[in-house]
Amino acid sequence: EPTRHRAGAPARVGIMGGTFDPIHHGHLVAASEVAHLFGLDEVVFVPTGRPWQKDLDKVTPSEDRYLMTVIATAENPQFRVDRVEIDRDGPTYTIDTLRQMRHTYGPDVELFFITGADALGAILSWHNVDELFELAHFVGCNRPGHHLSDTGLPEGKVSLVEVPALAISSTECRERVRKGEPIWYLVPDGIVRYIHKTGLYRES
Ligand code: ATP
Ligand code: MG
Repeated sequence: EPTRHRAGAPARVGIMGGTFDPIHHGHLVAASEVAHLFGLDEVVFVPTGRPWQKDLDKVTPSEDRYLMTVIATAENPQFRVDRVEIDRDGPTYTIDTLRQMRHTYGPDVELFFITGADALGAILSWHNVDELFELAHFVGCNRPGHHLSDTGLPEGKVSLVEVPALAISSTECRERVRKGEPIWYLVPDGIVRYIHKTGLYRES
């Protein structure tokens, strides 16, 4: 039974999907800024299962990515993490995540899918965008090195927003750890410590 909207339940919910390998301050600033701009009640971070667009052998175990996402968001009462994609077998598609969230929250909640400009560009090249847009409003955040214009975007379905830009990527964080370079202040302190404790991203 899907949860129906009730008094006190969130009415405007942001969804931030990602590999989070690892989660970094670019993700957190984007989520925080979109929550502010759109008056969201909460933002749900949804770590992907096996990402279909990434090389399986190179992706960190789901449980580590999930735990890092929990550690990074734990202090913010507006942020929470959903296990739905990591507990599901098979690859993660945005459409599945949105259908699941719609099922969880019921028909009355407004869903806002938060993406960086790079990911939004990929989503807009899909065939089933009409169903995506029925399920959620899409919010594209600027990201250094990625630009989107609003020409050709369906009216009212996609918003492009300026967030304080941070030129941080998970790829660069992994690379820095592999090379023994610091990732302090690119990711939350707890993530630096988790990566050091577990030995993630070190050359084996
Ligand atoms: P990778 O380098 O492994 O691709 P990533 O840094 O792109 O990792 P993802 O987990 O792929 O991180 O991204 C999840 C979502 O966060 C995507 O929508 C992505 O566009 C967005 N995002 C990632 N980094 C930033 C950033 N620095 N600023 C704004 N949005 C970002
Ligand atoms: Mg990426």
